Amino acid sequence: MTAHPTIVESLRQEGYRLTPQRIMILDIINDSMSHISAEEIHRKVQEQYPFVNISTIYRTLNLLKKLRLISETDLGDGYVRYELLERERHRHHHLVCRQCGESFAFEDELLKPLQIRLLKEYGFAADVDHFAIFGLCQRCRRGEGRGGVRKEGQHGAD
Ligand SMILES: [Zn+2]
Ligand SMILES: [Zn+2]
Repeated sequence: MTAHPTIVESLRQEGYRLTPQRIMILDIINDSMSHISAEEIHRKVQEQYPFVNISTIYRTLNLLKKLRLISETDLGDGYVRYELLERERHRHHHLVCRQCGESFAFEDELLKPLQIRLLKEYGFAADVDHFAIFGLCQRCRRGEGRGGVRKEGQHGAD
């Protein structure tokens, strides 16, 4: 097992014990190239530790969140997703269409001015780590989105 060295180091510095389960959860998040839900993490942990409870997974995720090693984002599909927060990784945010559910990534740069103004005008240092902004995508605004198609395909209208 090779949990990310930066994270292992931060946990040690904060005085947290690195149980095999914690290391495994870190590895799973580290290996998942994008976002992963607690349920998906749980399933993978259970392949090696069949008796691990999902509350153990949530406890570890909360700890990692508190240490600002991972971010938590609600992408609107009923699952909260987790992602490693590393400086060297590409920071991004999401635009999520509330009609068709399509998600588009956008660059961190766009939120920088907001972050600066929040600090200047409200004295508030916002954690702009990983955002999801909901709205209507271009295709749905034009009435061509998947939402419309899906509606037609729904079974049993009459
Ligand atoms: Zn993301
Ligand atoms: Zn859409």
